[in-house]
Amino acid sequence: EKNIVEVKNLKKYFPIKSGVLQRTTGYVRAVDGVSFSIKKGQTFGLVGESGCGKTTIGRSILRLTEPTSGEININGVDIMKVKKKDLRPLRPKMQMIFQDPFSSLDPRMPVGEIIGEAVKEHNLVPKSEYRDYVLSIMKDCGLRPYYIDRYPHEFSGGQRQRICIARALALNPDVIIADEPVSALDVSIQAQIINLMKDLQEKRKLTYLFISHDLSVVEHISDVVGVMYLGTMMENGPKESIFKNPLHPYTQALFSAVPIADPDVKMNRILLQGDIPSPSNPPSGCKFHTRCSKCMDICKTEVPTLQEYEPGHCVACHLYNKKKTENK
Ligand code: SF4
Repeated sequence: EKNIVEVKNLKKYFPIKSGVLQRTTGYVRAVDGVSFSIKKGQTFGLVGESGCGKTTIGRSILRLTEPTSGEININGVDIMKVKKKDLRPLRPKMQMIFQDPFSSLDPRMPVGEIIGEAVKEHNLVPKSEYRDYVLSIMKDCGLRPYYIDRYPHEFSGGQRQRICIARALALNPDVIIADEPVSALDVSIQAQIINLMKDLQEKRKLTYLFISHDLSVVEHISDVVGVMYLGTMMENGPKESIFKNPLHPYTQALFSAVPIADPDVKMNRILLQGDIPSPSNPPSGCKFHTRCSKCMDICKTEVPTLQEYEPGHCVACHLYNKKKTENK
C-alpha cells in the first residue's frame, strides 16, 4: 500500500514573548524535527505524556497550527506549499476528531445539519440526494434515522462522538486525525467507539492518525506506533514489536507503568526520575538523558538519530547505535 501521509522533519516552535514590548525571548520546541509516514488503510498511534507534542503534530499536519518548517505530504499533495486560502478545497480530505464531543458540536444545529453542513458547502452530493446521504452515513455510524432532527444536548457522550465521526466521514476523507477521541468517555463506551472506528476503517479503507496517552487504547487500534518525548519521536515501529519489545528506555518506562494484558510480556516497573524538562530549554544531546537510568557520556552531548534496529522498528538511542558498531 502507498503512503497516504508523509511527514519529514516537522518542526513547530512557539515563540515565548515577554516584557512590555512582547519581544521574543525564546521558543517552545513543541515539535522538534519529527518524521513518519502512514500507509493507506492503517492506523498510526502516537503516544506520549501530555506536553510531548503529539497534539501539535496533529494540528500542524492539517495546518490548523502553522508549522515552523518541514514537509507534509497527504495523498500526493505537498501541504506546506499550499497557500492558506487554497487550503479550503482540501479540507474535506483531512478531517479531525477531537477529544471533547461536547464542545465540538454546535448546540443550535440539528444532527443532520451538523453532519451535512460541510457536505453541502463543498457540493459533495447533489441536493436531491443530500438527506439520504446523511442518513446512510448516520446508519454506518450506528445513529438511528430519527436522530436527524434532534439536537446535540439530547445525546450521551458516546453518541455525540458518533456524530463527530459521522461528520468527518461524510466528507470522504483521505485521513482522519483523532486526538484523544475516547478519553472523555466512560471506559465501557470507549470500546464501542474504538470498534466503530475499526469497522469503518475496514469498510472504507480509512487512514487514521490516532493520538492518545492511553496505551491500552493505542494497542487496540494501531498498526504502527510512535512514541514521543519532548517534541521528538523516540521510537516507532509495528505495534506488535513496539509492545512486545520496546527498545527505548523511555518507552520501557512508559509501558512499565501500565499493566499489559499479554502474559508473555514480563516487565519490571521502571520509575521515571524527575519531571519532564521544559520544552523551551530541552536537555542537550538525548532529550531523555536527565531521566534515563542507562545514560552514558555520549548521551549528554550527541543527539541520537532515529535508526532502524529491526525491520520497520526504529529507535533513537545511543545504546543501540553502540550495539550496531560492536557487531561489526
Ligand atoms: Fe538513555 Fe542515552 Fe538512550 Fe538517551 S541515548 S535514552 S540517555 S541511553
